[in-house]
Amino acid sequence: MTSFRTLSDLTDLSGQTALVRVDFNVPMEGGKVSDDTRLRAALPTINALRDRGAKVVLMAHFGRPRGQPNPEMSLRPVVEPLELLLSAPVWFAEDCIGDAPRAVIADDLAPGGVALLENVRFHGGEEANDPAFAAELAKLGDIYVNDAFSAAHRAHASTEGLARLLPAYPGESMRRELDALDKALGTPVKPVLGIVGGAKVSSKLDLLKNLVAQLDHLAIGGGMANTFLHAQGVDVGGSLCEKDMADTAREIIEEARRQGCELLLPVDVVVAKTVKPGVESGVRALDRIAADDLILDAGPETVARLKRAMDLSKTLIWNGPLGVFEVPPFDKATVEAARHAADLARAGKITAVAGGGDTVSALNHAEVVDDMTFVSTAGGAFLEWMEGKPLPGVEALKA
Ligand code: AMP
Repeated sequence: MTSFRTLSDLTDLSGQTALVRVDFNVPMEGGKVSDDTRLRAALPTINALRDRGAKVVLMAHFGRPRGQPNPEMSLRPVVEPLELLLSAPVWFAEDCIGDAPRAVIADDLAPGGVALLENVRFHGGEEANDPAFAAELAKLGDIYVNDAFSAAHRAHASTEGLARLLPAYPGESMRRELDALDKALGTPVKPVLGIVGGAKVSSKLDLLKNLVAQLDHLAIGGGMANTFLHAQGVDVGGSLCEKDMADTAREIIEEARRQGCELLLPVDVVVAKTVKPGVESGVRALDRIAADDLILDAGPETVARLKRAMDLSKTLIWNGPLGVFEVPPFDKATVEAARHAADLARAGKITAVAGGGDTVSALNHAEVVDDMTFVSTAGGAFLEWMEGKPLPGVEALKA
């Protein structure tokens, strides 16, 4: 993490307007914000800029209005909860470009004041990354701050184009996220262990290929492990298994061997006849899986090996559950492994970084989100970063 400007270099921003891209794509119910986590995440950046005397102008998208104004996807409902969190008024501009935001910034905002602009995706130029639209946004401010890591995998006007037009800085949340990701895959302390679980090999191919090239150990769990077992001649019965991916799985196994990445595949599994809470289940060795068995979780010996691998590692990066964690008892391997990782992280023995939609729910279910070193809630951006792809919104911030 060398090449970014930092907000702390700016001491006095009085008389300046900071355009801040935030992630306010919050859950709403009945026109009201039902979870303010994302609003809270933006507070450190907003307050840092206010403290330096800047006019703070927030830009965000909400939903998928596809380039048309749509009252159901207005950001207006965000104003009130944001005012409560900031203990300060938040001005709202009915549009994100043109006279409406210009008037709010010039007439209403004092230094340290905060405004929120209407949904940037009400204009087609946002997702098209249209230079003319980005230039209209740029006219509103003096500096650009991007605090929306979760939108950084998209090259849109407010995430990428604008960063090319104004002096650009990562916000505090963005910085925390980039620091954590750098510790996990950029310049990690070795040995590094990866855990990749979830349903399908086909949706995580790029991820697996990138990880076997980078990691010392890679544990594969969840439904995708069935495909690897099948590729090695194990009869996985009626389990979720992508038989047409067997060649690909064998290629990944071979690539791991070539790159010196130790693959940890299940050595025992938990099976049942249906996926229902509390259904009768049993532990099976790999040669004892019946034709009507469904593999729904990793077995105890597999979890014990995974814990030993964690004990020997200094860095852990995790995406995807080890079993059908939504349906107990098939949450057991995921919960046990997550708690072990959390214990090691809390004791300072490992840097444990996890992310991706289902992974966050699984770690929440295991009640360890706060104990991991870092948990990213950015689904797509986190995955693309784990896949080794450059994120346009991050690249554009590099000074
Ligand atoms: P993903 O979105 O690819 O991370 O996949 C997460 C989903 O994989 C979760 O909903 C899990 O229930 C599911 N999953 C994990 N293990 C299995 C399994 N052995 N069989 C079927 N689905 C699984």
